[in-house]
Amino acid sequence: MVQDGKKMKVGFIGLGLMGGSMAMNLHKAGFPLTVYNRTQAKAEPFKSEGIKVASSPREVAAESEVVILMVTDAPDVMEVLSGPHGVLEGAKQGTIVVDMGTNSPEHARTFHSMCASRGLRFLDAPVTGGDRGAREATLTIMVGGEREDVERVMPIFQAMGKTIVHAGGVGYGQMLKLLNQVVVGVNMLALAEVMTLAERAGIDQEILFKVLSTGAANSFTVQYYMPKVMKGDMEPGFRAAHLRKDLKYAVDVATKLNVPLLGTSTTLQLYSAMNAIGMGEKGTQALVKLYQRLTSP
Ligand code: NAP
Repeated sequence: MVQDGKKMKVGFIGLGLMGGSMAMNLHKAGFPLTVYNRTQAKAEPFKSEGIKVASSPREVAAESEVVILMVTDAPDVMEVLSGPHGVLEGAKQGTIVVDMGTNSPEHARTFHSMCASRGLRFLDAPVTGGDRGAREATLTIMVGGEREDVERVMPIFQAMGKTIVHAGGVGYGQMLKLLNQVVVGVNMLALAEVMTLAERAGIDQEILFKVLSTGAANSFTVQYYMPKVMKGDMEPGFRAAHLRKDLKYAVDVATKLNVPLLGTSTTLQLYSAMNAIGMGEKGTQALVKLYQRLTSP
């Protein structure tokens, strides 16, 4: 039987740029935690804090009432759930599996069916707010699934985020997230265009930042990513390859619904080019660099 509130035992799989901070925030909020990361080194800071580090997703599931997944893409979720030593092998009936990475509504429904066939509950709960939002526990969390499950997991969401939205049934969290990524992606393309054009037109970057960040053009992209570009910091808070994945899912869904996504499609092509030339592991802001390269003599 899954307990309510802060006593729930939480398992966390995937301690990357996002998951590492999110799991640590759960620990700080007092949730009994078991973590797993494929690459052991990323679990070391958790070991030092006295947090239980499991050797497989199955072991995490066996210890937990709620199992959170924060891995890269749908095939990775599939592997962690149903691969050897996966969550499905270890989870007790009634365990709530929560996928917080970004994939697609269709995948969410597949994961839900796989969990349901083993007597497990499933929520899709992707997030937005960047690596800073993960560190500061200010994420916006978009949840798809049954209300009762959402309510049970709510205290856990509240320890990682500030705005939690129940979007509808399974898949609706991912759908909302894809809509969000359209705005994120096209905003980055706008920043790439503007920073390139400003340079060519002889506009000082500091002055440009002052205007964009205080007027009608302001956005998270301007506030958070533009200063990084100005400093030449291309390290990932959010990997370019991951935004490409999200834009591809958005275009796939829109294509099925006969909605043209003109700006998103263009942005997707540019992120595909970044992958092709080995820039996929850079931060999404490196699109500005690519754009400058494309337009340099
Ligand atoms: P990340 O730093 O690359 O971390 C990915 C994590 O997934 C790592 O712990 C990785 O393990 C694990 N993983 C990947 N494939 C796996 C597999 N097959 N089996 C087991 N573990 C696997 O990525 P991130 O930035 O934390 O992003 C995670 C998810 O959140 C993605 O879906 C991303 O789109 C989404 N997201 C990211 C941001 C952001 O700003 N970064 C914001 C919102 C949403 P290893 O350490 O072994 O590689």
